[in-house]
Amino acid sequence: MADTAVMDKLVSLCKRRGFIFQSSEIYGGLGSVWDYGPLGVELKRNVKERWWRAMVHDRDDIEGLDAAILMHPRVWEASGHVSGFTDPLVDCRQCKNRFRADDARLKGTPGTADSQCPVCGSRGTLTEPRLFNLMFKTFMGPVEEQAAIVYLRPETAQGIYVNYLNVLQGSRQKVPFGIAQIGKAFRNEITPGNFIFRTREFEQMEMQFFVKPGTDGEWFERWRELRMRWHHALGLAPAKLRWHEHGPTELAHYARAAFDIEYEFPFGWNEIEGIHNRGDFDLGRHQQHSGKKLEYFDQPANERYLPFIVETSAGADRVTLTVLVDAYREEQVEGETRVVLGFHPAVAPIKAAILPLVKKDGMPEVATAAYDDLRKRFPCFYDDSGAIGRRYRRMDEAGTPFCVTVDGESLAERTVTVRHRDSMQQDRVSLDRLAGFLEDALRG
Ligand code: ATP
Repeated sequence: MADTAVMDKLVSLCKRRGFIFQSSEIYGGLGSVWDYGPLGVELKRNVKERWWRAMVHDRDDIEGLDAAILMHPRVWEASGHVSGFTDPLVDCRQCKNRFRADDARLKGTPGTADSQCPVCGSRGTLTEPRLFNLMFKTFMGPVEEQAAIVYLRPETAQGIYVNYLNVLQGSRQKVPFGIAQIGKAFRNEITPGNFIFRTREFEQMEMQFFVKPGTDGEWFERWRELRMRWHHALGLAPAKLRWHEHGPTELAHYARAAFDIEYEFPFGWNEIEGIHNRGDFDLGRHQQHSGKKLEYFDQPANERYLPFIVETSAGADRVTLTVLVDAYREEQVEGETRVVLGFHPAVAPIKAAILPLVKKDGMPEVATAAYDDLRKRFPCFYDDSGAIGRRYRRMDEAGTPFCVTVDGESLAERTVTVRHRDSMQQDRVSLDRLAGFLEDALRG
């Protein structure tokens, strides 16, 4: 299957089953902004909850934070985003389209007569590359003037840096310790695309780990290992994950080391998470720009220092896309194509569907009782419409690991069948044992 065909099928499945819709679709859609429907919101929440559990609840040395999207504009001067968060762009004077200067479709040298616009085909109409800031701007308060400009944050990390002393004081943490945050970020991306891979509004899952200078190398390696393990535990195929080390030309000037975790999407290998050793750049800049001392006092050693930071930064939407792509498969079953989202049970939006074979003979009553019991334990779905085969296929497309069917034998014998999504095998399970059976199976 061609690579674009896979993505097209996934996009249409996501719409059909209620995972992801284009924003403001009835108005023609808003470029590269997407909405999560009933199944999508559950899937993404499950991804975020697993991250939060691994990074905050399962550890004694990381605290959570939820900083506001709007921050003092000077934060973005200190961070370097006002001057440096830019992409070089080329405009076509003829058709008014805009391109990243590194867009492979551009022909010739922009700014010269031999250049050619990839959209309208005009020659010599491309401008020289100009820097374009990717931050969204708005105004705070009633007056739209320069002094009232604020930015929609392009990353969540700065909210962590400026709060690090507050968190330290309010908790009993000591260096080394971390602060984790999940939240929205906004970037006016010029070449967004590939569905929810690169969007203008997205969520990040970021953790900044504050360490004593000199121990950063060790912590960096530790976090690399832990983060790759987390992606494996999400059920992603290990063969589709790899490391990409930033070479000297890619490495930010302040970064001591940076590795990306990449996934092999149908459109190629691409970053899903970055792990960065940022040294004391961030706290140093905020200390300088705010005039506030941000040093840490190490009591036992009786010394003061600016901690170094090891960052792990993943996109919640990008990881959700990875989970969808990794789970998508088509199989031939008895001459028909079966489309399955083979999610890890922990991230599946619906854990079990309860299906009465027919809407009579007491089956709906047994099925409803089972549904009412199971839905108290995990998300379930009740479906009594259409042929049973069609209902199974719908649940395969939703990635539901188990279908519980109430049939003729259920009434007399107090048993149901449990169909496994991946093998399509069916087990006969007594109604008394059903909840325990499913809970064990979901735990894997
Ligand atoms: P890219 O090179 O893909 O633009 P980046 O190196 O700018 O990414 P970071 O600033 O390191 O990305 O952001 C950390 C993570 O945030 C990325 O690994 C990705 O998962 C997510 N992310 C960044 N930009 C976007 C976006 N426009 N849409 C969706 N997720 C994004």
